[in-house]
Amino acid sequence: MGDIAARPSSIEGVGIFAVRAFRVGDRITPVHIVREITPEAPIREDLGERIDHCAYPDGKVVLIAFPERHVNHSCDPNAFEYFEGHTSYLVARRHISVDEEITIDYNINISNGSTWPCHCRAKRCGGQVVGDFFRLPVERQREYRPLLAEWFIHRHRRRVEALDSSRESRGAPP
Ligand SMILES: [Zn+2]
Repeated sequence: MGDIAARPSSIEGVGIFAVRAFRVGDRITPVHIVREITPEAPIREDLGERIDHCAYPDGKVVLIAFPERHVNHSCDPNAFEYFEGHTSYLVARRHISVDEEITIDYNINISNGSTWPCHCRAKRCGGQVVGDFFRLPVERQREYRPLLAEWFIHRHRRRVEALDSSRESRGAPP
């Protein structure tokens, strides 16, 4: 832990906060995984496990460890999840000051997720987490395109290629 701490958040419940400052590109913390959730080894609510502490990388369901499980969503996040093989890290997307809440955009690397209200209070907040990268405004998809995980690009190759070619045509001289 050390560099981050779980504290009450003005966005939602508990969030994770910077104990030290981070610069752009800094690895804030590995996203530690407790275990994979499978039909044979389902969530054990009797042991305090919760489905909202899970993530969905590459078609799997994994239970995220404390405190990373508490990272909140923002429509203008200061961090993102970076995948490297079977591990992932929270990486600073811009400078993060001591005591600032660390946020990611839950719409990155997800499709066909559920939609729920957003209280992130970012200036550009759309009022909801759509739960699907491809349902974000296309400008936002372009902004987040460099943050997409390889496994997500692989799973949605044609839609990502369509996004990339729309960028190319837009960039063509008049
Ligand atoms: Zn929002």
